[in-house]
Amino acid sequence: MPIPIKNALTIDVEDYFQVSALAPYIDRDSWDRQPCRVERNVNLILGMLSTAHVKATFFTLGWIAERYPQIVKAIVADGHELASHGYGHQRASDQSPEEFKSDVTRAKGLLEDLSGHSVVGYRAPSFSIGEANLWALDTLRECGYRYSSSIYPVRHDHYGMPNAPRFAFAPIKHDQEFVELPATTMRLLGRNFPAAGGGYFRLLPYACSRWLLRQVNRTDRQPAIFYLHPWEIDPEQPRPKGLDAKTRFRHYVNLRHTEPRLRRLMADFNWGRVDQIFLRSRA
Ligand SMILES: [Zn+2]
Repeated sequence: MPIPIKNALTIDVEDYFQVSALAPYIDRDSWDRQPCRVERNVNLILGMLSTAHVKATFFTLGWIAERYPQIVKAIVADGHELASHGYGHQRASDQSPEEFKSDVTRAKGLLEDLSGHSVVGYRAPSFSIGEANLWALDTLRECGYRYSSSIYPVRHDHYGMPNAPRFAFAPIKHDQEFVELPATTMRLLGRNFPAAGGGYFRLLPYACSRWLLRQVNRTDRQPAIFYLHPWEIDPEQPRPKGLDAKTRFRHYVNLRHTEPRLRRLMADFNWGRVDQIFLRSRA
């Protein structure tokens, strides 16, 4: 029996060639020439969600929305939440305040124009908001966003803010209306362990991922925020040559297990959209 608490299922809508770890190997200027897989993969996920009667949140890149407006329309038509992943998948931590503002404004405008819905959620590429750029949260608020899910309270070589709160918090002084919803972690032996999916969902046995989420629901009595990418259910994606061993392992490990594992995950827990789980009481 699934635990009654509702968790947030989130999909970061980007293609395999836009992943930050592959940036040194695939030039941004070549994106338009890469064979695209995102439409196929998002449609597959939409089909799985519909079969399981699950609603989710899709943090979508402006770059993708512009080229595949039909993806945006399909997400909204199926009753999911459309949210922003920025425009061009530049890490927030690599952007100046002006660049960041223009990136998140552009993405929000594009997604709203295409969908006819207001977009209130944002996730930074590669969870790239942390200690050094907390100003980004104020910028999001100024630009009309109501929440961010961009901080991962773990230690990791590419991201992380280990001392951040593990669950929803209001990061802006005197402003309870804007919330940060950190990626889910499990607390064990004085350390936070990643429990929010992504590469760990492919790497760990399914029972282990399930145990982590159950611990959060049962012990912390909090909803989890789980994420994955459309390319993670696509073992047939083109593989760029020359990747270093660590990048290759992280990107390709257990790709063919993701789809069946995702089906189990949808059946084993209760799921919903981020806005409906976290914003309803504050609206
Ligand atoms: Zn991303």
